[in-house]
Amino acid sequence: MNPCVATGWSTIGILVPLMGMVVAAKAGEPATGPAASAVPPASAFTLPALPYAQDALEPYISAKTMSFHYGKHHQAYVDALNKLVASTPMATQTLDKIIVDCTGKADKAAVFNNAAQDWNHTFFWKSMKPGGGGQPSGRMLDLIVKSFGSFDKFKETFAATALAQFGSGWVWLVQDGDSLNIIKTANADTPIARGQRPLLTCDVWEHAYYLDYQNRRKDFVQAFLDHLANWDFAASQLK
Ligand code: FE
Repeated sequence: MNPCVATGWSTIGILVPLMGMVVAAKAGEPATGPAASAVPPASAFTLPALPYAQDALEPYISAKTMSFHYGKHHQAYVDALNKLVASTPMATQTLDKIIVDCTGKADKAAVFNNAAQDWNHTFFWKSMKPGGGGQPSGRMLDLIVKSFGSFDKFKETFAATALAQFGSGWVWLVQDGDSLNIIKTANADTPIARGQRPLLTCDVWEHAYYLDYQNRRKDFVQAFLDHLANWDFAASQLK
């Protein structure tokens, strides 16, 4: 064996990590000693794991939609939020606190929007499950019948509210004491910003359904109600 070859590989193996440290020291915090590292600080927020596989909601929501909606859109909200809160006290706060604290503050609109979209999407993934939809049972059904007259009337109102949201937004089932209400919110707005208690949500931004349903929001919301809604999760949110 040529000893020079062995020496060359060995040298490269040592140089590569050293070069990484030099680059990191230039790009980030000043290198002040052994603590300076090529490893970036942990992000305050991370994309939560989906409660099911990306193709689990097919044929009602395709794996392609999920790969964009969860992997690109939701990830982008998390990444933007991390940039906005970096080196601020908000980096160690909960999403809920950030949302409430930033509500209605014009200079915190970007933080609010990205924090709320992170929260809303996480809640939306939990609001669905493979083999979901249809009529709930127990206390949830009792409250729906008491609040809307019947389960069919609830579905009609939920769908009509989803269609009535002009542009991007969300439709929500919320609890108000012993009764339930259906509300819509625009863009990133969220019930928790106003102290309401959400039980279930459907994302009606076009990115939620355009690849599978194009402009047919009504068909998407109907599929949500008939095949996806996770009533076990909704019931777990009841107070
Ligand atoms: Fe979305």
